[in-house]
Amino acid sequence: MKAVRLVEIGKPLEMQEIPRPPVGDRDVLVRIKAAGICHSDVHYRAGASAVGPLPQTLGHEVAGIVEEAGAQVTNVAVGDRVCLHYLLTCGDCYYCSLGSEQFCVEGSMIGKYCDGGYAECIAVPARSAVALPDEIPFEHGAVLMCSSATSFHALRKTRLAAGETVAVFGAGGLGMSAIQIARAMGALDVYAVDINAGRLEQAATYGAIPVDATEGDPVAAIRQLTGGRGVDVALELIGLPQTMRQAVQSLAVFGRAGLVGIADKPFEIDSYPELLGREAEVIGCADHLLHELPLLLEFARRGLLDLSQVVTDTVPLDADAINDVLDTLEQFGGRVRTVITPEG
Ligand SMILES: [Zn+2]
Ligand SMILES: [Zn+2]
Repeated sequence: MKAVRLVEIGKPLEMQEIPRPPVGDRDVLVRIKAAGICHSDVHYRAGASAVGPLPQTLGHEVAGIVEEAGAQVTNVAVGDRVCLHYLLTCGDCYYCSLGSEQFCVEGSMIGKYCDGGYAECIAVPARSAVALPDEIPFEHGAVLMCSSATSFHALRKTRLAAGETVAVFGAGGLGMSAIQIARAMGALDVYAVDINAGRLEQAATYGAIPVDATEGDPVAAIRQLTGGRGVDVALELIGLPQTMRQAVQSLAVFGRAGLVGIADKPFEIDSYPELLGREAEVIGCADHLLHELPLLLEFARRGLLDLSQVVTDTVPLDADAINDVLDTLEQFGGRVRTVITPEG
């Protein structure tokens, strides 16, 4: 089968002809219909994030149709539409039994530590295959498995309750999902903090109240907009010490700050006024959980989470086309997503 693979760090991906992967008793073989091209893939290609062994097929946002199922597979059947949880887990270890399988002792990740979705087919443990409702296009199913799922997990980790207020720092891919999901979960007001006017405008179309950080201190703006109270939940989706600090400073009494963006530097908290005195919490959020995915998909099925403005382009399974998309992401970032559709 055809696969577009990272052969050498820092070099363009290459098309290779590789054998179809073996399908174990507890595995499924999925015919790929859509694979999202993610900003993380830019980091893998550039060697900025761990990836390997090489050569390796990238792509961790995958949806398709089950083509073959191992003898012990019961959760999905041949012909089912599915999308894939990118973390591959054993289902049996201490962490998996707790439902916290992102800490699985045998855990791996498709498109990072084992072959992913820039290919015609992929084999994964069947427990990573989640039913994709007919109403959701494969392209959306694929992209839901990354940033949307991580935003959803962060809102659950920060225990967002109906009637609360939320501030989202960073109105990119994660932010656009976070805003919509927060509203679907019953958030009263959602503030979107960014420095990009276009992003703020788009955030407003999803019902967020824009806070333009180029026009002054966003913390002061949020205090003013909330009558001095601050927000119950603040999500930091950028990965900058400055915005992490702002997220904590924006909290109300009993507020929870969820840190999602990855930073390579520490940030400061003025412990008494910002944390102890408010009984506030700072919560680390990483990836997402298998059992969260069906509910996330149900939000999308009901139109409460709309990706039609996010997934805008498709490319074929072609190394040049995929490298071009990665080059563009590398140079300009981007809030819109391109999805590979191997069958056109
Ligand atoms: Zn991704
Ligand atoms: Zn496990």
